[in-house]
Amino acid sequence: MIEMTEAAMLEGLAEEASELAHAALKLARIFRDENPTPVQAAEAKEKLTEEMADVVLYSQVVRERIGVRLDKINEVVLRKQDRWKRRMSEGV
Ligand SMILES: [Mg+2]
Repeated sequence: MIEMTEAAMLEGLAEEASELAHAALKLARIFRDENPTPVQAAEAKEKLTEEMADVVLYSQVVRERIGVRLDKINEVVLRKQDRWKRRMSEGV
């Protein structure tokens, strides 16, 4: 079995995050319909789903490896979610 270093895990996470960004931009391009692409929406959504899963998986592995507690992440998510809701309701 090959042991991944922390650096390799972080590089993997960064690569997957980049792939997720590309998949999101592709679907946005389809939705915007200003710059045609041969890729269909269903295919783009499937790719986005795969890349989201990759990021979730790598995030989990990195989190466990570098010792970030899940409850800490959940706490940050809830705080940001509240801030986002507040900004949306204020129109900011
Ligand atoms: Mg990927």
